[in-house]
Amino acid sequence: MSDRTATHRVRAYIGLGANVGDAPATLARAVDAITKLPGVRVRGVSPLYVTAPWGVTDQPDFHNAVVAVDIPAGPDRAAGALTLLAELKALERLAGRRGRRRWGPRELDLDLLVFGRNRIVVDRPAEARSIDAETDPAKAARRLEVPHRDAGERLFVLAPLADLAPGLVPPGWGVTVETRRRHVAATEAPDAVRKVALWHAERGAWVREPASG
Ligand code: ATP
Ligand code: CA
Ligand code: CA
Repeated sequence: MSDRTATHRVRAYIGLGANVGDAPATLARAVDAITKLPGVRVRGVSPLYVTAPWGVTDQPDFHNAVVAVDIPAGPDRAAGALTLLAELKALERLAGRRGRRRWGPRELDLDLLVFGRNRIVVDRPAEARSIDAETDPAKAARRLEVPHRDAGERLFVLAPLADLAPGLVPPGWGVTVETRRRHVAATEAPDAVRKVALWHAERGAWVREPASG
């Protein structure tokens, strides 16, 4: 396995999404699996959101959330981020994700949004490559880029990330997550991204708030 003996730890944020099968159950299982990754400590799980599909719109709504973790930095930041990406890709496969078009329907999508204070752009080794590489060769050539290059444009990332870390300024952004969230929210329909449930750590699941009134 990878070298995780280095004691230095970084805070990372992982974006979760699914729109095939029982998405809330799949995402809860993903949180549990992330908890069990070697050396990883989960520090927070955002509320669960339902979001209209993005990019490719003729598909079911997505469920989205963000998980905050503390994780060994690795021998260097790029190696640490690549190790985590490879683990996330393995979890996607375990959830039954198959090759499909970009932004298309998927059982589970795990994106590395932020990895400490570093901006990382690095070529990916084979095990970190996209499951969709066979169907879309352009994807296989893509590099790992952290912060995720589109995170600042996507309300389904910004909303749950702002729940966990409103004051965070991801490397290269120049503004906080909450500032960015408000800016993007102003350009979208009010119900584009809807908070539907809160994380319940003891149950290991999101629980809908009882309707008030
Ligand atoms: P998007 O990256 O726009 O959210 P997607 O999630 O639909 O698109 P995937 O097929 O899941 O696309 O991933 C495409 C490729 O992006 C993968 O090969 C993955 O290794 C690579 N990639 C680059 N940067 C990141 C990152 N920060 N987190 C996750 N994957 C990344
Ligand atoms: Ca994605
Ligand atoms: Ca992805």
